[in-house]
Amino acid sequence: MSPISHNLQAVRERIAAGARTALRDPQTVQLLAVSKTFGADAVVDAADAGQRAFGENYLQEAVDKMASIHAFRPDLKLEWHFIGPIQSNKTRPIAEHFDWVHSVDREKIAHRLSEQRPANLPALNICLQVNISGEDTKSGVAPQDVAAVAKAIARLPNLKLRGLMAIPEPADDVEQQRAPFRKLRQLFEQLNEEGLALDTLSMGMSADMDAAIAEGATIVRVGTAIFGQRTYAK
Ligand SMILES: *Cc1c(COP(=O)(O)O)cnc(C)c1O
Repeated sequence: MSPISHNLQAVRERIAAGARTALRDPQTVQLLAVSKTFGADAVVDAADAGQRAFGENYLQEAVDKMASIHAFRPDLKLEWHFIGPIQSNKTRPIAEHFDWVHSVDREKIAHRLSEQRPANLPALNICLQVNISGEDTKSGVAPQDVAAVAKAIARLPNLKLRGLMAIPEPADDVEQQRAPFRKLRQLFEQLNEEGLALDTLSMGMSADMDAAIAEGATIVRVGTAIFGQRTYAK
């Protein structure tokens, strides 16, 4: 067993255990494997261990990786999720290459993605990133603005608004970790009461996925626990 397939198995067990503790069906929590900084070989390794959905933060790195995977293994049908910060001049390749975008944090970006989504592809799945911890430095829509932005995005023709995403401040204690996730879930429920049919709460990473699952995460975005520590110096 490769280290990646071993780690994947452990993460799947952790998700299942967390779901059972929360009295949730483990099938309702999807694993997004965050492969940023790791090569095509690591993605193929995880794919051969049954993983299908991969998350990437850096556009050029992601597009190059997709091309080399396709060249080696055209049989692999993978689902790609963009989860990094988005510059408005980089929306076209995102609209062309990805199935999901979790990091939409303003209406303008959503408009561009909708306009630039190729007509032969299905609607691009969107999560609105929320600045749930409220720091000035973090990207994300302020909680009080989420309803208006979400309703505007839901009207765009080539997007499908699926839900909300957040990256809270790191915290060591599980109770502290749960508080922002709970806030995000409450926002999500409020939007559904107002008529949006959202089904996705993208929250939780290697260090806080258990807290996120306890608060209702439907997608956890996990990098380090699957692929190991990242080194950014390249
Ligand atoms: C890198 C990243 C992750 C994965 O983080 P780990 O701590 O390695 O699990 C998840 N979400 C986003 C938005 C990221 O940038």
